[in-house]
Order: sequence, then structure tokens, then C-alpha cells
Amino acid sequence: MTAHDATRPAPPPAGAPERKPKLATVSLAGCFGCHMSFLDIDERLFTLIEHVTFDRSPFTDKKEVGECDIGLIEGGVCNAENVQILREFRQHCKILVALGACAINGGLPAQRNSIPLSSLLQAVYYSSPRLPHGGIPDDAELPLLLDKVHPIHEVVKVDYFIPGCPPSADAIWSVLRDLLAGRAPVLGHGMLHYD
Ligand code: SF4
Repeated sequence: MTAHDATRPAPPPAGAPERKPKLATVSLAGCFGCHMSFLDIDERLFTLIEHVTFDRSPFTDKKEVGECDIGLIEGGVCNAENVQILREFRQHCKILVALGACAINGGLPAQRNSIPLSSLLQAVYYSSPRLPHGGIPDDAELPLLLDKVHPIHEVVKVDYFIPGCPPSADAIWSVLRDLLAGRAPVLGHGMLHYD
């Protein structure tokens, strides 16, 4: 079976209009490294877009998530906006996938969790020699920070997890291929890592 065949979803019933599955992606408290790894599937992107429509994603710049088959979430949850977006993805995506270490366990941003938020803000905005005038940003437009950075499964139900910082392009491709073929994804030898 070729990669092209393996990606092809089951054909629609006779007479039914063909509908491409919809895929949405978002980065919450992440660095976009997982999205960059997604782009590293390279020419397989052409195969993918034959079989899916991208909904909300940095690849489309669409700001609202519509009804989707698969949602990929990069990054953990560090502020109120992250919570809202994550809940919207859960509400609209049939399958939700945690993409990368930050979504799974908070990752690097969660290293702040051992320091009280107020102490952290004081240290960053008043003690840094590079910010001589200090002042903690408090514009109403800024999303409210949470006390801690949370993995996404602490906020919503997550169906599948792709570990790694970032997960390899091959791991992301493998999971998407399985999901689009209607299979539960299984990451084989060499595609599971926990850095
Ligand atoms: Fe970036 Fe790694 Fe977190 Fe992905 S898992 S968002 S690459 S820090």
C-alpha cells in the first residue's frame, strides 16, 4: 500500500456527495515548533490536501474553528484565552489530538509552575535590568494568566497523544494517516520519543 492509498479515507456511500474531512490546528502555550514539524512532512502535504480541508489553522489564518473531524492542539494552557480556544476545539472537533510535549505535560512553559505567578511577574517586569522602567502589563486586551500552565487533558477530554518536542514529521504523518483511514493511531518503533 502506498502512502497515498493509506491516507485515503473510506469512500462515501454511492450517491452521497464526497466530503473531505476537515482538519484544524492551533498553538496555545507553544512555540510553533510542533507546527514546523508538521510542515516537515514536506511533499506529503500535497497528498494530505487532496484528502482534507484545513479549517482554523496557522496554515489558513482562519480565526474561528468550524465543525471538524480532527483537531491538533499544540501547547499547554497558560491563560484564559487558551482555555476558551481549547474548549471551542473540543466542542467542534470529533477527534482531538494533543500534539507534542507542551500539550501533553505543559512542557517548557510549565517550568514556571514552581514559582508563584506574582513573584514571577515581579521578577520579570521589575527586576530585569533590560526593563528599567518596569510595570506589569495590564491592558484589558491581554488574556488573564493562569496561576499554572496546564496540560490540555486537564481541561478537556483528549483522544490521542503524539509525544515529542517536537514530534517527528513521520509521527505526525503516521497519526493523521491512521485517523483519516478510520484506524486508531499506533506509533511504531522509532516514532515514540519523550524529549
Ligand atoms: Fe515547542 Fe516542543 Fe512545545 Fe512543540 S513540544 S510547542 S516544539 S516546546
